[in-house]
Amino acid sequence: MLRLYNTLTHKEEPFAPLHGDVVRMYGCGPTVYARAHIGNFRTYVCLDVLRRTLKYVCGHQVRQAVNYTDVDDKTIKGALESGTSLREYTDTWIHAFREDSARLGIEAPEETPRATDDENMRAMGDMILTLEAKGHAYRRDGSIYFKISTLPQYGQLARLDRDGMKDGAAVDVDEYSKDDPRDFVLWKASKPGEPSWDVGTGAGRPGWHLECSAMALRLLGGPPIDIHAGGVDLVFPHHENEIAQSEGATGTTFARCWFHIEHLFVESEKMSKSLGNVYTIAEIVARGHRPSALRYLLLSSHYRKQLNFTWTGMDQAEEAIRRIVDFRSRLDTVTDSAAHGRVPPQVADARQAFKTALEHDLNTAGALAAVFDLVRDVNAAIDAHEVSAAEAREAADAIDHFDRVLGVVSLRQAEDAEPPVPVEEIERLIGERRAARERRDFAAADRIRKELVERGILLEDNAGGTRWKKK
Ligand code: AMP
Ligand code: ZN
Repeated sequence: MLRLYNTLTHKEEPFAPLHGDVVRMYGCGPTVYARAHIGNFRTYVCLDVLRRTLKYVCGHQVRQAVNYTDVDDKTIKGALESGTSLREYTDTWIHAFREDSARLGIEAPEETPRATDDENMRAMGDMILTLEAKGHAYRRDGSIYFKISTLPQYGQLARLDRDGMKDGAAVDVDEYSKDDPRDFVLWKASKPGEPSWDVGTGAGRPGWHLECSAMALRLLGGPPIDIHAGGVDLVFPHHENEIAQSEGATGTTFARCWFHIEHLFVESEKMSKSLGNVYTIAEIVARGHRPSALRYLLLSSHYRKQLNFTWTGMDQAEEAIRRIVDFRSRLDTVTDSAAHGRVPPQVADARQAFKTALEHDLNTAGALAAVFDLVRDVNAAIDAHEVSAAEAREAADAIDHFDRVLGVVSLRQAEDAEPPVPVEEIERLIGERRAARERRDFAAADRIRKELVERGILLEDNAGGTRWKKK
């Protein structure tokens, strides 16, 4: 049975969904004001591995929501500076996030709500009105605050010492008129030039914490939801405040299991936009690596341990993937018909070890060790001519099963099938070459052809025009 570490109880606990076989989980999504960096993607790759483990190892169904925070100080500022509407501005970054997620083989969640969607805004308004009715909220100068002294359990997730608690003021710097400096903002009064909504709240915009509480409960059904997840930096104040709002409004536990992913570091510093030490997927690719290698690196160590990003680590990840992919291809070449019985127990052991590792708080490093044990053992058996085609098929099925969770082999195969130059670029260059020939500039036409050959693309001219193929 799957065991997960729960930040709320500080213990590893058996995990099963509350209702039937459907796991309802929520992950805090990106703030869409810039291209997400690979630190953010450590969190989303680990969430993807959790999702795939629940589905393909535990046999559950998953209903997952990952939101887009498309209204906050940073998105509003970015939209103003770029002279576009908030919606248009955040659309660009949502598109970029989806593109990068797909390149990393992240399965699309069932729900990807935006905070500014009408239904979500309405749910936030309703939550505020409920909190007010229950005495957990108060209004000051057009803003609305959560009164934490009304909720005895406040601080339980982050294990805060209630008296020595960090001020909410440190987070919402522009709010001065609170009853208690620790209170946090639910709704910010509208300011000139900023987008605003009124959902029974007076004109303004939601606080970040409120967005997630309202969307999680609206989209995943009544509390408690099964799993709530994010990077470790979100434990306080974000998740603590999400609990306060949701439990204040519903009177019931918000989430049963809190799942937090440790940070990705670069040269021993946290990777973050404010430190300026971030890499994007595009930058990794520009350095000659493929997203599958990054995915491998991000899932190769346990999610609760810090992971230090290095280029040597990327090279090792490339090497590791190559070993698995080569092994998987080699299995298809085995044609012997005599069974030797050496491989089936190796496959059974690897399947068991893989499952046991993932069930033990998503120990991906252990799961990979099981994969490499199988690669080593079966390679040795093939070298000794002790594997039949049927036995090789068994090993191949196991690798394919492992990869449903890991998602690196299929990703690498898809990358290999892609042309080395984007199709649109090839077609544009073919057009330029045709134009050069029409104006009898054969030198220019030849330059284009040679450039494409160097980049791995061959052109073939025939009566119907020019066709291209991979070298
Ligand atoms: P943000 O867009 O800043 O709201 O962050 C999106 C997600 O990425 C959150 O769950 C963060 O906790 C997570 N995150 C931010 N920086 C890192 C990092 N260096 N390593 C892992 N996760 C991170
Ligand atoms: Zn959140």
